[in-house]
Amino acid sequence: MPGDIIRYSCCCGMRGVVAPGVMGLSWDAGSEEVIAYNPKIEAIETMSRENAKNRNLRIYRNPFLNDPMGFTKVIKNCLCPKCNNATLEFERLGVWD
Ligand SMILES: [Zn+2]
Repeated sequence: MPGDIIRYSCCCGMRGVVAPGVMGLSWDAGSEEVIAYNPKIEAIETMSRENAKNRNLRIYRNPFLNDPMGFTKVIKNCLCPKCNNATLEFERLGVWD
């Protein structure tokens, strides 16, 4: 099962690349890679859902999940977990599987 490669950036300086999705052929626990905000380093990271839950981090939904065909390239005006403004942008760079 595939995942997305996503670049995020905000005018507050938070930026990076994450790759949420599902590794392997099934949805068994631990194989799902999610994106979560890590306040310690003020960045969104890719990690397993289990890891994010254990660390009590806020999990974000893959913003491109509803568009598996890849028509949407950029999603603007998302709420930034660092500065709390709706100035966070996600750009889909590609997919992985
Ligand atoms: Zn921000």
